[in-house]
Amino acid sequence: MQQQQTKKEVEKTIEPVKEVEKPKKVSKPKSYKLASRDYKAEDTIIKVNDILIGGNNFIVIGGPCSVESHEQIFQCAQFAKENGTQILRGGCFKPRTSPYSFQGMGFDGLNELKSAGKKYEMPIITEVLSSEQVAEVALNSDIVQIGARNMQNFSLLKEVGRIHRPVMLKRGMMSSLDELLNAAEYILAHGNRQVILCERGIRTFETATRNTLDLSAIPFLKELTHLPIIVDPSHAIGVRDKVAPLAKAAKVVGAHGVMIEFHPDPDKALSDGEQSLTFEQYGELMKDLHAL
Ligand code: PEP
Ligand code: MN
Repeated sequence: MQQQQTKKEVEKTIEPVKEVEKPKKVSKPKSYKLASRDYKAEDTIIKVNDILIGGNNFIVIGGPCSVESHEQIFQCAQFAKENGTQILRGGCFKPRTSPYSFQGMGFDGLNELKSAGKKYEMPIITEVLSSEQVAEVALNSDIVQIGARNMQNFSLLKEVGRIHRPVMLKRGMMSSLDELLNAAEYILAHGNRQVILCERGIRTFETATRNTLDLSAIPFLKELTHLPIIVDPSHAIGVRDKVAPLAKAAKVVGAHGVMIEFHPDPDKALSDGEQSLTFEQYGELMKDLHAL
């Protein structure tokens, strides 16, 4: 039988740990500059009419996925205003997965959105799909949206970099935060310093939800960049009755606002009906957000 070793004998057999030189921590230089906190330490606050986006402000962008008719957008605008919405949304040029799906009302829709925003005194936001449309869309809206599918459309990014309108840049569904910030950098580097970022969910292995809302992106982005960050829970989760808890969570984690889709009759919506809140749900959510 093996004899028990004394503590001393055990210690003798242990090789002393040699002091190894610690590797020097070399931080990789960032490929974006203007978007970074190193370039600008204080939060960027974007003023749209009398609405402030960024800093300690929390705003709600609300409206239908698509502008579908005069009646529909005016009804939405009135309800949005009555419930404390700051900015009215409505898609006029729709990036649809299928070419046979409703493609939007185009400039006719934008005219309706513009009149509705004017009547109910709300700035409007709408998506621009191509470089050729940028000038005219920018002329007729208060904020121009670059959709997830176009986050790395560099010619489009350069084009919106040349306009004098705030741009809301949505995170691509397969993009890292670094790629999002570099896409923002394209716009900033071309002269437009009014960029808002939007987290709208990314594609993961999960199939229960339309996308996976990356709420952890918010505190990270707030550290990395001075730009305002909006969360879009509608396109992330894709299911009407599960949008509200995510919207509230977005406020809690420090987002500067949320963007919510709602519709007078979601089941008849021409796009994204499944994720569009009813008026009743939207009204409830606005009250809850206000109370948070
Ligand atoms: C939208 O906001 O209407 C939209 C199409 O969203 P995303 O680009 O995030 O899919
Ligand atoms: Mn939509």
